[in-house]
Amino acid sequence: MRQLIWFRSDLRVQDNTALNAAMQSGQALAVYFITPGQWQLHDDAPCKIDFWLRNLNSLQTQLQTLNVPLLIRHAHYWSDAPEVMADLCREYSIDCVHANDEYGLNEVRRDKEVAELLREQGVQFKSYLDQLLFQPGSILNRSGNYFQVFSQFRKVCYQRLHIALPAQQPLLQAQASTGINSDPIPSEVVGFAKPSAALQSLWPAGEHAAHLRLQRFADEFMEDYDLQRDLPAIPGTSQLSAYLAAGVLSPRQCLEAALLTNRGEFESGNPGVVTWVNELLWREFYKHILVGFPQVSRHKAFRSQTEAIAWRDAPQELKAWQEGRTGFPLVDAAIRQLLETGWMHNRLRMVVAMFLSKNLLIDWREGERFFMRHLIDGDLAANNGGWQWSASTGTDAVPWFRLFNPINQSRRFDPQGRFIRHWLPQLADVDDKHIHEPWKAGDLFARPDYPQPMIDLSLSRERVLQTFHKLSALEVRDA
Ligand SMILES: Cc1cc2nc3c(=O)[nH]c(=O)nc-3n(C[C@H](O)[C@H](O)[C@H](O)COP(=O)(O)OP(=O)(O)OC[C@H]3O[C@@H](n4cnc5c(N)ncnc54)[C@H](O)[C@@H]3O)c2cc1C
Repeated sequence: MRQLIWFRSDLRVQDNTALNAAMQSGQALAVYFITPGQWQLHDDAPCKIDFWLRNLNSLQTQLQTLNVPLLIRHAHYWSDAPEVMADLCREYSIDCVHANDEYGLNEVRRDKEVAELLREQGVQFKSYLDQLLFQPGSILNRSGNYFQVFSQFRKVCYQRLHIALPAQQPLLQAQASTGINSDPIPSEVVGFAKPSAALQSLWPAGEHAAHLRLQRFADEFMEDYDLQRDLPAIPGTSQLSAYLAAGVLSPRQCLEAALLTNRGEFESGNPGVVTWVNELLWREFYKHILVGFPQVSRHKAFRSQTEAIAWRDAPQELKAWQEGRTGFPLVDAAIRQLLETGWMHNRLRMVVAMFLSKNLLIDWREGERFFMRHLIDGDLAANNGGWQWSASTGTDAVPWFRLFNPINQSRRFDPQGRFIRHWLPQLADVDDKHIHEPWKAGDLFARPDYPQPMIDLSLSRERVLQTFHKLSALEVRDA
């Protein structure tokens, strides 16, 4: 019985549920689909596509040690996937296709259409829980609905983890040679420019690199995570998001590393470890939200009432934000970090997202799209969740009247301006007092190379508060 493992966002051989299932069921081949049209539709960032391709190379090498050939097929859009898969199954006499679940609406539709066409030609399609610790739909409130509040969701996750920890897959043994050759992996895909070598070197590909990063984080930083995770100038977070998003690491492997660091505890013990596990559960939460509330996949506001907000159409201001020219150093430094590394520190994602959606009153979807186009870890659920949290349009979002002040955030989380000076070298010689608001350095501060603040923070604060206040008055009237 010949099996096919269809790799998607699970680019690893260790602890890969579908790969284990395929290899246990018979002789296994593997395939990956190159889908540039779909990637464009999803705004996938060029650096992310490059990261996938580099990881595919590494995956192919790993698969070779198991004698599993990795085939490459082109399907411009996912709507082409059923035909391409059907042809492949005919060509290699495949009996069953195995794949790990993915959760966006388009992903679910693609799999359903592939499964239907395969069924017509007598090929089975089996899918597995792999990307998450818990099956979406299995963590529900007493009324049988999806949780909308993270702390309540987490409580049930803890209960489940106390009963049983999600088991990892056993190590795989090599199968006998299939005599089938792997296909070459393209080094580049048209429409997705190759990122700089400097960016690539920040994100080395492959499971080995991912495990080294996880191990180093567990050994050196995890126990202080609660104290350091908000300081962008130091490497206090794991920087594993790109590996988790591409499935080079599994959440079970991350959980295991946390448990090993904390004597098997996830809810008590070292506060750094408990806080980190909490973040893994936020990842889980937003993916469950994606399944439970499909409007999120269509970029609709989770709180539908907020669709009535009159977001400002301000292309020049949007452009200044996108180019890191707002005149607020922490915001601009954060955008520089994103453009140059493909990643942005979590605290700063919240700061820049609130600045765009609240201070500039520009639709959060503009920011969501811009992030996706640049993030190496771009993930629909987490990105949408983060943006809707910041814009107060989402589930368990920050209350609308709570706005981060970018200057206070800067003083609090980058007190000596180390992060700012790194990304905005033109401010390197500004003293610690003025680094957060350089325009206050007076006449001495005549810098043609750094802009004046683009808005008055208190006026912009008033504007957004009034906007949301009107909305909540309407909501009260409707209720
Ligand atoms: C506006 C906005 C957009 C975001 N977009 C993305 C995105 O596209 N992809 C993405 O993976 N994360 C996103 N996040 C969440 C978070 O910022 C990143 O996961 C985190 O910065 C990644 O760095 P790290 O790996 O060092 O995280 P760590 O702090 O080490 O956390 C460990 C892991 O937990 C997960 N995680 C942590 N925080 C969150 C969170 N708030 N929501 C969901 N998962 C989380 C990630 O997988 C992360 O790798 C976004 C947050 C905001 C506010």
